[in-house]
Amino acid sequence: MANDNPTLEFLGAARSVTGSKFLARTKNSQVLFECGMFQGLKELRLRNWNPFPMNPADLEAVVLTHAHIDHSGMLPRLTKMGYEGPIYCTPASTELLRLLLPDAGYLQEQEANYANKKGYSKHSPALPLFTREDAQESLGQLRTLDYGKSLEVADGVTIKFHPSGHILGAGFVEADIGGRKVIVSGDIGSYEREVMAEPSDLPDADYVLVESTYGGRSVDARPVQETLKEHIGPVLAEGGVVVIPAFAIGRTTLVIYHLRQLQERGELPDVPVYVDSPMATDAVDIYCRYGLEHNLKVDLLRSSDKCPITAKTMHMVKRLEDSKKLHRKPGPMIIVSASGMLAGGRSVHHVKTRGGDPKNLILLVGYQADGTRGRALIQGKRELKMFGETHTINAKVASIQGLSAHGDSDDVLRWLGTSKAKPKAFLVHGEDEGLHAMGKRVGEELHWKHYTPNYLEKIKL
Ligand SMILES: [Zn+2]
Repeated sequence: MANDNPTLEFLGAARSVTGSKFLARTKNSQVLFECGMFQGLKELRLRNWNPFPMNPADLEAVVLTHAHIDHSGMLPRLTKMGYEGPIYCTPASTELLRLLLPDAGYLQEQEANYANKKGYSKHSPALPLFTREDAQESLGQLRTLDYGKSLEVADGVTIKFHPSGHILGAGFVEADIGGRKVIVSGDIGSYEREVMAEPSDLPDADYVLVESTYGGRSVDARPVQETLKEHIGPVLAEGGVVVIPAFAIGRTTLVIYHLRQLQERGELPDVPVYVDSPMATDAVDIYCRYGLEHNLKVDLLRSSDKCPITAKTMHMVKRLEDSKKLHRKPGPMIIVSASGMLAGGRSVHHVKTRGGDPKNLILLVGYQADGTRGRALIQGKRELKMFGETHTINAKVASIQGLSAHGDSDDVLRWLGTSKAKPKAFLVHGEDEGLHAMGKRVGEELHWKHYTPNYLEKIKL
């Protein structure tokens, strides 16, 4: 019967990059793929406060492609609102989530406290979306599933993870939803990267939900290290401070890896590199334990002086007091700190203290979502609102793309091209321009049907 057709509802990352959430309904069950937070534009962030469009208690299962907050960050809220069932992801993802979700809860609490103290929130009192405690609660629901193993997670819904080459633990999902084969791409990594292994080939399917973060853009093919050296070298020579906002797990590892290589070859001076993130040290440890997923040499990772993801003169800054002390230290030095889009966290404090000095450099190394301070800087804005006040940025601003954990347009097309079938593509996880460009390539180069779903649209499979 037609009414029994499974459906898919696009509850996030539909005509936006963030907030990934896709609800699959079959005759007897509901499964949520991804549970990401909306980030960036205020209009998007406000959606995080909307009630979930389904009753969380009615879900049978939640399935996550990877640990990034725009794919996982609403889990604590989902739990808080009544979801008690299992959350499936790969083993490495569970370990990263144990770092990320409590940290996200902490950030939420901090922001609410700060807003209340300074009185700049329009709501009083300002409330966190969820707390550290809520995050801890949801961690108890994590269930691991290894790559390549099938599992029936609900009546009529089976899943299998395949490596997607994006960050540690990331896997695209091959799902059977009431008899329809659906691939949920999550984020797809690049084919030419020093750190992560490449994405697995795409199995046959009826539908593919494909990320379009970089849409039609190809990333500058020039070696990243050359570009890094070009930007950083002169600033350090002048005694300046380089602030690199980077997401604490995938990106920070990559940044440190390249800085280390440059230092090893004597192309960058051995200035202090401060990794101002309580999570980054734990992340190195997790990278060591999941050697098969990346291309780094595990024996080197275990060596204290040769570890490729430790800079030669690296200092891990865990405690908040030490982070505050950093603000008074003179250059030359490099500070790597989260969040990567300057949406919050310690990196915003560093931009606030270092951004006024023209000798310094703010180096953006990842995707900058619409509405974030990072995007504003790339667009040439030099007045940033931080902690309720406007600050003028006189420091140099540069942006490097080759360090993204995302594949560019060519990588995603290459990945799609490994499919022997001609599935229909649902274009998600992109802004208008990127979605349009990706649709064009999918249609013209692969001759696949494609469609870009709207926010909250429900589609019969
Ligand atoms: Zn991601």
